[in-house]
Amino acid sequence: MTDSVYHDYPPTLNPAQKEFLVRTVRDWTAQNGLQVRPAPAFVSRDSDPNGVLATNAPVTLFPSPFPRTCFEEAKALQTLYNKLYAAITCNEEWIGKIMEDLIDVDDFISNLWKVHLAVQKEGYAQTLSLGLYRSDYMAHAPSDATDFELKQVEFNTISSSFGGLSSCVASLHTELLDSPPGNPIAYPSHPLLKSDEVPENTAVETLSAGLATAHAAYRASKSQPQLPTCILFVVQEGERNIFDQLALSRQITKVHKIPVFRILSSEILDHTSIPSSNPSRPLIYAPPHAPSSQFEVSTVYLRAFYAPTDYKSPRDWEARTHLERSAAIKCPTVLNQLSGSKIIQQVLATPTGPDHLKSFLPDTEESLLTRLRSTFAPQYDLSLSGKGRDLALNPSTALNHVLKPQREGGGNNIYKSAIPDFLNSIPENEWKRWILMELIHPPAAAKNVALRSDGEVLASGVISELGIYGTILWDQKSGNVQHNEQGGWLMRTKAEGVNEGGVATGFSSLDSVVLF
Ligand code: ADP
Ligand code: MG
Repeated sequence: MTDSVYHDYPPTLNPAQKEFLVRTVRDWTAQNGLQVRPAPAFVSRDSDPNGVLATNAPVTLFPSPFPRTCFEEAKALQTLYNKLYAAITCNEEWIGKIMEDLIDVDDFISNLWKVHLAVQKEGYAQTLSLGLYRSDYMAHAPSDATDFELKQVEFNTISSSFGGLSSCVASLHTELLDSPPGNPIAYPSHPLLKSDEVPENTAVETLSAGLATAHAAYRASKSQPQLPTCILFVVQEGERNIFDQLALSRQITKVHKIPVFRILSSEILDHTSIPSSNPSRPLIYAPPHAPSSQFEVSTVYLRAFYAPTDYKSPRDWEARTHLERSAAIKCPTVLNQLSGSKIIQQVLATPTGPDHLKSFLPDTEESLLTRLRSTFAPQYDLSLSGKGRDLALNPSTALNHVLKPQREGGGNNIYKSAIPDFLNSIPENEWKRWILMELIHPPAAAKNVALRSDGEVLASGVISELGIYGTILWDQKSGNVQHNEQGGWLMRTKAEGVNEGGVATGFSSLDSVVLF
């Protein structure tokens, strides 16, 4: 049965072994940049007024076992998933029809759609579009299953994070596994603990190469006189996950020799401009630390602007519109961000009605489409009465479901027994803001030990989520794909019984995998 692999994993640590392993991991994270800025609840602003401190990212002491067939299948499907989301993004009419229904009840979606409409009215100055994606899965293994099934949790089209740190965790666990036998930092012996079962993790290389490809495709400066070109990372104020982002910018600068700058989303209108005299609409960046120099932005990489909290005032919406109307290649465009909405994932997963996969991927073999389709867990629309509403409102069927709004970044879902009461507490016309999804059941016997960012060590039953990274560059007008790659992965592990999954939101720890 599917659970047998997990029952004696990980090996038990005696107190001295545990202390030694924790110390080794903690020091390794500092030596190698597997770090985050501490949460204010852990280190208050008063005790670190200059913001100099960093701490270990939450990380598991052991890699988690993951079925090889599921891992390989997730990798095999990634470039097809990339193509699917690029094709959806090219069909703004289709996206518009789906969004139409939400616009009157969801301000955030409505404002994003308005940005798109405003730029479309003027005409987009850039037809190339870049996606840095992460498709998230669990190995589904309900109690009666004899084999694992790969099931998608969600597909991320904006700010797909943790590529930088996840490569680092794979190195950490590999190094621990490679310790010579008898070395005190080695793990206690266990048949699953072999370093050659940790797959290579090329997330940093893949994501950086995606950005570098877009930069090259932008070609020459459109300014008169010409300016040097650069990539611009748009980031949130107080970002705690900065080292993850710096792993990508360092790779771009060191390997691809492209200048990279970081800008707060709140400062875009202060430090960037689009000369009104230039119909090509280049985005000009004047670094505040070197005001006499100017760069033309080839590619805007958003690590902000994915959540309503990133838009504190109309000025932030103005900034998003300003970026969208510029000639810079956006990662992602507003349309590409919207294509990743939960509602679109629900529509794709609906087995009845039009065959959307076939129409978005017309040249793909049916057998491959079937494999893609089989990664979908059942999902339901709640806009009208029907199966979705029945399952959500019935307390016994609600237990096997999760309710998701059109939001990213974790902490937004309603789970199981809370679903009926929640729905009954909001006006019925708002139900369509949510989709209902059947729960995926990862192996119940999985366990691991996490070192949290505040130093706490937690051993528990766990649920692990695998993400596969992919990058795609395409022409939004012709649909031509210029670059389509998969590479690198993320394993996140949370304590069993914790419903939510984000690392940044404090629910999960970074992990790696040993394949079996
Ligand atoms: P977000 O955009 O907030 O990351 P997700 O769809 O990834 O939204 O949901 C957040 C977390 O909720 C996931 O990381 C996962 O732990 C849990 N979750 C979401 N959907 C399911 C599902 N169908 N089955 C089990 N857990 C789920
Ligand atoms: Mg998620």
